[in-house]
Amino acid sequence: MKVELQNLTKIFPNRNKKIKEGVVAVSDFTFTVPDGKLVGLLGPSGCGKSTTLYMISGLQQATSGKIFFGDEDVTDLSPENRGVGLVFQNYALYPHLTVMQNILFPLQNLKGKDKLPKEEMIQRAEEAARLVQIDELLDRKPNELSGGQQQRVAIARALVKMPRVLLLDEPLSNLDARLRLQTREEIRRIQKETGITTVFVTHDQEEAMSISDMIVVMKLGVIQQVGEPQEIYDNPINLFVAKFLGTPPINVFRGCVQNGKLYIGEEAVLDVAGVEDKPVYVGIRPEGFTLDENGPLTCKLSGIEVMGRDVSIISTNENSTNPSVRSIINSDNKVDATAETVKYSLKPHKVFVFDAETEERIYF
Ligand code: ATP
Repeated sequence: MKVELQNLTKIFPNRNKKIKEGVVAVSDFTFTVPDGKLVGLLGPSGCGKSTTLYMISGLQQATSGKIFFGDEDVTDLSPENRGVGLVFQNYALYPHLTVMQNILFPLQNLKGKDKLPKEEMIQRAEEAARLVQIDELLDRKPNELSGGQQQRVAIARALVKMPRVLLLDEPLSNLDARLRLQTREEIRRIQKETGITTVFVTHDQEEAMSISDMIVVMKLGVIQQVGEPQEIYDNPINLFVAKFLGTPPINVFRGCVQNGKLYIGEEAVLDVAGVEDKPVYVGIRPEGFTLDENGPLTCKLSGIEVMGRDVSIISTNENSTNPSVRSIINSDNKVDATAETVKYSLKPHKVFVFDAETEERIYF
Protein backbone atom coordinates (compact mmCIF):
# COMPACT_ATOMS: atom_id res chain seq x y z
CA MET A 1 0.00 0.00 0.00
CA LYS A 2 1.68 3.21 -1.08
CA VAL A 3 1.21 6.27 1.11
CA GLU A 4 1.00 9.60 -0.66
CA LEU A 5 1.41 12.84 1.24
CA GLN A 6 0.43 15.93 -0.74
CA ASN A 7 1.41 19.40 0.48
CA LEU A 8 0.84 18.44 4.12
CA THR A 9 1.07 21.38 6.49
CA LYS A 10 0.48 21.49 10.22
CA ILE A 11 0.24 24.76 12.08
CA PHE A 12 -0.36 24.68 15.82
CA PRO A 13 -2.00 27.69 17.47
CA ASN A 14 0.49 29.81 19.35
CA ARG A 15 0.16 29.57 23.14
CA ASN A 16 1.35 33.15 23.36
CA LYS A 17 -1.92 34.97 22.56
CA LYS A 18 -0.02 38.13 21.60
CA ILE A 19 1.54 36.31 18.65
CA LYS A 20 -1.01 35.81 15.90
CA GLU A 21 1.02 33.42 13.75
CA GLY A 22 0.86 29.78 14.75
CA VAL A 23 3.77 27.36 15.11
CA VAL A 24 4.51 25.79 11.72
CA ALA A 25 5.48 22.22 12.62
CA VAL A 26 5.35 20.79 9.10
CA SER A 27 5.35 22.83 5.93
CA ASP A 28 4.22 21.74 2.46
CA PHE A 29 5.40 18.15 2.89
CA THR A 30 5.01 16.22 -0.37
CA PHE A 31 6.31 12.70 -0.60
CA THR A 32 5.19 9.20 -1.58
CA VAL A 33 6.17 6.21 0.52
CA PRO A 34 6.45 3.42 -2.06
CA ASP A 35 4.44 0.25 -1.49
CA GLY A 36 6.16 -2.23 0.84
CA LYS A 37 9.12 0.00 1.64
CA LEU A 38 10.55 1.24 4.90
CA VAL A 39 11.04 4.98 4.95
CA GLY A 40 12.94 6.77 7.71
CA LEU A 41 11.95 10.33 8.67
CA LEU A 42 15.14 11.87 9.95
CA GLY A 43 15.99 15.22 11.48
CA PRO A 44 16.93 17.03 14.67
CA SER A 45 14.56 17.44 17.58
CA GLY A 46 11.59 19.65 16.75
CA CYS A 47 11.88 19.36 12.95
CA GLY A 48 8.36 17.95 12.60
CA LYS A 49 8.98 14.19 12.26
CA SER A 50 6.48 13.07 14.88
CA THR A 51 3.87 15.55 13.70
CA THR A 52 4.18 14.11 10.17
CA LEU A 53 3.76 10.59 11.55
CA TYR A 54 0.74 11.60 13.62
CA MET A 55 -0.89 13.18 10.58
CA ILE A 56 -0.40 9.89 8.68
CA SER A 57 -1.95 8.01 11.60
CA GLY A 58 -4.87 10.42 11.95
CA LEU A 59 -4.03 11.25 15.57
CA GLN A 60 -3.44 14.77 14.34
CA GLN A 61 -5.46 16.52 11.67
CA ALA A 62 -3.49 18.28 8.93
CA THR A 63 -4.06 22.04 8.68
CA SER A 64 -3.95 21.61 4.90
CA GLY A 65 -2.91 19.02 2.36
CA LYS A 66 -4.03 15.49 1.56
CA ILE A 67 -3.12 11.93 2.53
CA PHE A 68 -3.82 8.91 0.33
CA PHE A 69 -3.40 5.23 1.20
CA GLY A 70 -3.27 3.66 -2.25
CA ASP A 71 -6.03 5.47 -4.15
CA GLU A 72 -8.12 6.12 -1.05
CA ASP A 73 -8.22 9.63 0.35
CA VAL A 74 -7.86 9.09 4.12
CA THR A 75 -7.34 12.75 5.05
CA ASP A 76 -10.62 12.95 6.97
CA LEU A 77 -10.72 9.38 8.28
CA SER A 78 -10.40 8.75 12.03
CA PRO A 79 -7.31 6.83 13.24
CA GLU A 80 -9.39 3.65 13.87
CA ASN A 81 -10.56 3.61 10.28
CA ARG A 82 -7.20 4.18 8.64
CA GLY A 83 -5.82 0.71 9.31
CA VAL A 84 -2.51 1.83 10.79
CA GLY A 85 -0.37 0.13 13.43
CA LEU A 86 1.43 2.54 15.72
CA VAL A 87 4.45 1.84 17.91
CA PHE A 88 5.70 4.52 20.28
CA GLN A 89 8.97 5.12 22.08
CA ASN A 90 7.44 4.13 25.44
CA TYR A 91 5.90 0.79 24.68
CA ALA A 92 2.64 1.68 26.45
CA LEU A 93 1.78 -1.92 27.35
CA TYR A 94 -0.93 -2.65 29.89
CA PRO A 95 1.01 -3.70 33.01
CA HIS A 96 -1.77 -5.85 34.50
CA LEU A 97 -2.26 -7.90 31.31
CA THR A 98 -0.08 -10.77 30.12
CA VAL A 99 1.84 -10.54 26.85
CA MET A 100 -0.87 -12.60 25.12
CA GLN A 101 -3.65 -10.38 26.50
CA ASN A 102 -1.75 -7.27 25.45
CA ILE A 103 -1.41 -8.54 21.89
CA LEU A 104 -5.05 -9.66 21.79
CA PHE A 105 -6.31 -6.31 23.08
CA PRO A 106 -6.76 -4.50 19.74
CA LEU A 107 -8.62 -7.50 18.28
CA GLN A 108 -10.98 -7.76 21.25
CA ASN A 109 -11.94 -4.14 20.68
CA LEU A 110 -13.06 -4.73 17.10
CA LYS A 111 -16.77 -4.07 16.68
CA GLY A 112 -19.57 -5.03 14.30
CA LYS A 113 -18.54 -6.66 11.04
CA ASP A 114 -14.86 -6.49 11.95
CA LYS A 115 -15.34 -8.69 15.04
CA LEU A 116 -13.41 -11.96 14.81
CA PRO A 117 -14.18 -15.42 16.27
CA LYS A 118 -12.13 -16.17 19.38
CA GLU A 119 -10.04 -18.92 17.74
CA GLU A 120 -9.05 -16.61 14.91
CA MET A 121 -8.04 -13.90 17.37
CA ILE A 122 -5.80 -16.32 19.24
CA GLN A 123 -4.33 -17.67 16.03
CA ARG A 124 -3.50 -14.14 14.83
CA ALA A 125 -1.99 -13.16 18.17
CA GLU A 126 0.18 -16.29 18.15
CA GLU A 127 1.33 -15.57 14.62
CA ALA A 128 2.26 -12.00 15.51
CA ALA A 129 4.13 -13.24 18.60
CA ARG A 130 6.03 -15.79 16.50
CA LEU A 131 6.95 -13.14 13.97
CA VAL A 132 8.59 -10.97 16.62
CA GLN A 133 9.98 -14.06 18.42
CA ILE A 134 8.27 -13.71 21.77
CA ASP A 135 6.09 -16.82 21.51
CA GLU A 136 7.85 -18.29 24.55
CA LEU A 137 6.85 -15.31 26.71
CA LEU A 138 3.10 -15.15 26.22
CA ASP A 139 2.18 -15.79 29.86
CA ARG A 140 4.49 -13.15 31.33
CA LYS A 141 3.52 -9.67 32.45
CA PRO A 142 5.35 -6.67 30.87
CA ASN A 143 7.43 -6.00 34.01
CA GLU A 144 8.91 -9.50 33.64
CA LEU A 145 10.36 -8.62 30.23
CA SER A 146 13.46 -6.74 29.08
CA GLY A 147 13.05 -3.42 27.27
CA GLY A 148 13.72 -5.08 23.92
CA GLN A 149 11.15 -7.79 24.59
CA GLN A 150 8.58 -5.18 25.62
CA GLN A 151 9.16 -3.31 22.39
CA ARG A 152 8.59 -6.54 20.46
CA VAL A 153 5.26 -7.02 22.25
CA ALA A 154 4.33 -3.48 21.22
CA ILE A 155 5.23 -4.32 17.62
CA ALA A 156 3.23 -7.57 17.75
CA ARG A 157 0.27 -5.61 19.09
CA ALA A 158 0.57 -3.16 16.20
CA LEU A 159 0.81 -6.00 13.65
CA VAL A 160 -2.02 -8.17 14.93
CA LYS A 161 -4.70 -6.06 13.23
CA MET A 162 -2.85 -6.53 9.95
CA PRO A 163 -2.43 -2.81 9.42
CA ARG A 164 -2.12 -1.28 5.96
CA VAL A 165 0.68 0.93 7.20
CA LEU A 166 3.05 0.53 10.15
CA LEU A 167 4.18 3.71 11.92
CA LEU A 168 7.11 3.65 14.36
CA ASP A 169 7.92 6.71 16.47
CA GLU A 170 11.49 6.49 17.85
CA PRO A 171 10.86 2.83 18.76
CA LEU A 172 14.42 2.18 19.90
CA SER A 173 15.09 5.24 22.06
CA ASN A 174 14.54 3.48 25.37
CA LEU A 175 16.87 0.58 24.62
CA ASP A 176 20.56 0.30 25.48
CA ALA A 177 23.12 0.40 22.68
CA ARG A 178 23.37 -3.36 22.11
CA LEU A 179 19.62 -3.91 22.16
CA ARG A 180 19.10 -0.99 19.82
CA LEU A 181 21.28 -2.67 17.23
CA GLN A 182 19.59 -6.01 17.65
CA THR A 183 16.06 -4.59 17.69
CA ARG A 184 16.61 -2.44 14.62
CA GLU A 185 17.70 -5.53 12.70
CA GLU A 186 14.59 -7.28 13.99
CA ILE A 187 12.38 -4.45 12.80
CA ARG A 188 13.98 -4.67 9.39
CA ARG A 189 13.43 -8.43 9.26
CA ILE A 190 9.80 -8.16 10.36
CA GLN A 191 9.14 -5.38 7.87
CA LYS A 192 10.66 -7.43 5.03
CA GLU A 193 8.76 -10.56 6.03
CA THR A 194 5.39 -8.82 6.25
CA GLY A 195 6.00 -6.39 3.36
CA ILE A 196 4.03 -3.72 5.25
CA THR A 197 4.68 -0.15 4.13
CA THR A 198 6.44 1.37 7.13
CA VAL A 199 7.38 4.86 8.26
CA PHE A 200 10.02 5.08 10.95
CA VAL A 201 10.83 8.27 12.86
CA THR A 202 14.27 8.80 14.35
CA HIS A 203 16.77 11.57 15.09
CA ASP A 204 19.60 9.02 14.87
CA GLN A 205 21.12 9.15 11.41
CA GLU A 206 22.96 5.86 11.78
CA GLU A 207 19.73 4.11 12.70
CA ALA A 208 17.88 5.63 9.75
CA MET A 209 20.70 4.87 7.31
CA SER A 210 21.02 1.26 8.45
CA ILE A 211 17.43 0.11 8.09
CA SER A 212 15.65 2.39 5.64
CA ASP A 213 15.04 1.83 1.95
CA MET A 214 14.70 5.59 1.69
CA ILE A 215 15.18 8.48 4.04
CA VAL A 216 13.59 11.88 4.23
CA VAL A 217 15.80 14.49 5.91
CA MET A 218 13.82 17.31 7.54
CA LYS A 219 14.73 20.68 9.04
CA LEU A 220 12.26 23.10 10.63
CA GLY A 221 9.27 21.29 9.15
CA VAL A 222 10.65 21.35 5.61
CA ILE A 223 11.95 18.41 3.57
CA GLN A 224 15.61 18.95 2.73
CA GLN A 225 16.38 15.82 0.75
CA VAL A 226 14.82 12.46 -0.11
CA GLY A 227 16.64 9.39 -1.38
CA GLU A 228 18.35 6.12 -0.64
CA PRO A 229 20.65 6.44 2.38
CA GLN A 230 23.87 5.94 0.42
CA GLU A 231 22.75 8.29 -2.32
CA ILE A 232 22.15 11.09 0.20
CA TYR A 233 25.45 10.41 1.98
CA ASP A 234 27.31 10.52 -1.34
CA ASN A 235 25.42 13.50 -2.69
CA PRO A 236 24.12 15.88 -0.01
CA ILE A 237 22.15 18.77 -1.41
CA ASN A 238 23.19 21.32 1.22
CA LEU A 239 25.48 21.80 4.21
CA PHE A 240 22.77 20.83 6.72
CA VAL A 241 22.26 17.40 5.12
CA ALA A 242 26.02 16.86 4.71
CA LYS A 243 26.55 17.57 8.41
CA PHE A 244 23.59 15.52 9.56
CA LEU A 245 24.66 12.24 7.93
CA GLY A 246 27.82 10.31 8.74
CA THR A 247 29.80 9.12 11.75
CA PRO A 248 32.35 10.44 12.34
CA PRO A 249 30.79 13.60 10.94
CA ILE A 250 31.97 15.41 7.84
CA ASN A 251 34.85 17.89 8.32
CA VAL A 252 33.83 21.41 7.35
CA PHE A 253 36.36 24.12 6.47
CA ARG A 254 35.94 27.78 5.59
CA GLY A 255 37.38 28.30 2.15
CA CYS A 256 37.02 30.13 -1.11
CA VAL A 257 37.10 29.59 -4.84
CA GLN A 258 39.53 31.66 -6.87
CA ASN A 259 40.38 31.26 -10.55
CA GLY A 260 39.00 27.70 -10.71
CA LYS A 261 40.87 26.55 -7.63
CA LEU A 262 39.44 25.63 -4.24
CA TYR A 263 41.36 27.16 -1.36
CA ILE A 264 41.46 26.25 2.31
CA GLY A 265 43.48 29.11 3.80
CA GLU A 266 46.44 29.69 1.47
CA GLU A 267 46.42 26.13 0.18
CA ALA A 268 44.84 25.28 -3.18
CA VAL A 269 43.44 21.84 -2.41
CA LEU A 270 41.45 20.98 -5.54
CA ASP A 271 40.69 22.11 -9.10
CA VAL A 272 37.12 23.32 -9.42
CA ALA A 273 37.18 24.72 -12.95
CA GLY A 274 34.03 26.61 -13.91
CA VAL A 275 33.00 27.56 -10.36
CA GLU A 276 32.73 31.32 -9.84
CA ASP A 277 34.96 33.05 -7.29
CA LYS A 278 33.27 33.26 -3.88
CA PRO A 279 33.59 32.29 -0.23
CA VAL A 280 32.49 28.70 0.41
CA TYR A 281 32.34 25.93 2.96
CA VAL A 282 34.36 22.85 2.06
CA GLY A 283 32.97 19.56 3.41
CA ILE A 284 35.36 16.61 3.41
CA ARG A 285 34.20 13.15 4.53
CA PRO A 286 36.66 11.49 6.95
CA GLU A 287 37.42 8.86 4.29
CA GLY A 288 38.12 11.59 1.72
CA PHE A 289 41.72 12.23 2.80
CA THR A 290 44.80 10.45 1.45
CA LEU A 291 48.09 10.71 3.32
CA ASP A 292 50.48 12.31 0.87
CA GLU A 293 53.68 14.11 1.82
CA ASN A 294 53.33 16.24 -1.29
CA GLY A 295 49.60 16.79 -0.74
CA PRO A 296 48.21 20.33 -0.71
CA LEU A 297 46.37 20.34 2.65
CA THR A 298 48.42 20.71 5.82
CA CYS A 299 47.02 19.99 9.30
CA LYS A 300 48.62 19.99 12.72
CA LEU A 301 48.77 16.45 14.07
CA SER A 302 47.20 15.99 17.49
CA GLY A 303 46.54 12.26 17.82
CA ILE A 304 46.16 8.87 16.21
CA GLU A 305 43.55 6.26 17.07
CA VAL A 306 44.05 2.76 15.74
CA MET A 307 40.74 1.01 15.13
CA GLY A 308 41.91 -2.34 13.72
CA ARG A 309 41.40 -2.14 9.97
CA ASP A 310 41.44 1.66 9.99
CA VAL A 311 43.38 4.46 11.58
CA SER A 312 41.75 7.68 12.63
CA ILE A 313 44.01 10.72 12.49
CA ILE A 314 43.01 13.69 14.61
CA SER A 315 44.48 17.03 13.67
CA THR A 316 43.67 20.72 13.64
CA ASN A 317 43.48 23.36 10.97
CA GLU A 318 42.70 27.00 11.64
CA ASN A 319 40.08 27.04 8.89
CA SER A 320 38.18 24.07 10.24
CA THR A 321 34.75 24.90 11.68
CA ASN A 322 35.02 21.87 13.98
CA PRO A 323 37.53 21.87 16.86
CA SER A 324 39.40 19.01 15.20
CA VAL A 325 39.77 17.42 11.79
CA ARG A 326 39.21 13.68 11.71
CA SER A 327 40.38 11.55 8.81
CA ILE A 328 40.07 7.80 8.45
CA ILE A 329 42.67 5.94 6.48
CA ASN A 330 43.59 2.30 6.00
CA SER A 331 45.90 1.01 8.75
CA ASP A 332 48.38 -0.21 6.11
CA ASN A 333 49.41 3.44 5.92
CA LYS A 334 52.10 4.14 8.46
CA VAL A 335 51.66 7.42 10.26
CA ASP A 336 54.57 9.03 12.07
CA ALA A 337 53.01 9.82 15.46
CA THR A 338 55.89 12.14 16.35
CA ALA A 339 55.47 14.40 13.32
CA GLU A 340 54.11 17.90 13.89
CA THR A 341 52.08 18.11 10.74
CA VAL A 342 50.27 15.76 8.45
CA LYS A 343 49.76 16.41 4.74
CA TYR A 344 46.84 15.24 2.67
CA SER A 345 45.61 15.11 -0.85
CA LEU A 346 41.84 14.85 -1.27
CA LYS A 347 39.53 12.40 -3.07
CA PRO A 348 37.41 14.73 -5.21
CA HIS A 349 34.20 12.63 -4.90
CA LYS A 350 34.40 12.93 -1.10
CA VAL A 351 34.72 16.71 -1.18
CA PHE A 352 31.58 18.89 -1.29
CA VAL A 353 31.56 22.63 -1.80
CA PHE A 354 28.76 24.82 -0.41
CA ASP A 355 27.96 28.50 -0.95
CA ALA A 356 29.04 30.26 2.26
CA GLU A 357 25.90 32.38 2.26
CA THR A 358 23.08 30.03 1.19
CA GLU A 359 24.84 26.81 2.31
CA GLU A 360 23.55 25.19 -0.91
CA ARG A 361 25.79 22.78 -2.77
CA ILE A 362 27.98 24.08 -5.57
CA TYR A 363 28.67 21.33 -8.10
CA PHE A 364 32.02 21.11 -9.83
P1 ATP B 1 11.40 15.22 18.55
O1 ATP B 1 12.44 14.39 17.89
O2 ATP B 1 11.95 16.11 19.64
O3 ATP B 1 10.17 14.46 18.97
P2 ATP B 1 10.07 16.11 16.16
O4 ATP B 1 10.92 16.28 14.97
O5 ATP B 1 9.25 14.86 16.22
O6 ATP B 1 10.91 16.30 17.47
P3 ATP B 1 7.56 17.48 16.47
O7 ATP B 1 7.21 16.83 17.76
O8 ATP B 1 6.85 17.03 15.26
O9 ATP B 1 9.13 17.38 16.20
O10 ATP B 1 7.38 19.06 16.63
C1 ATP B 1 7.58 19.97 15.56
C2 ATP B 1 7.36 21.39 16.05
O11 ATP B 1 6.00 21.60 16.41
C3 ATP B 1 8.18 21.76 17.28
O12 ATP B 1 8.60 23.08 17.14
C4 ATP B 1 7.17 21.62 18.42
O13 ATP B 1 7.49 22.48 19.48
C5 ATP B 1 5.88 22.04 17.74
N1 ATP B 1 4.70 21.35 18.35
C6 ATP B 1 4.49 20.02 18.41
N2 ATP B 1 3.30 19.75 19.00
C7 ATP B 1 2.74 20.97 19.32
C8 ATP B 1 1.51 21.37 19.93
N3 ATP B 1 0.62 20.48 20.34
N4 ATP B 1 1.32 22.70 20.10
C9 ATP B 1 2.22 23.62 19.68
N5 ATP B 1 3.39 23.29 19.08
C10 ATP B 1 3.67 21.98 18.89
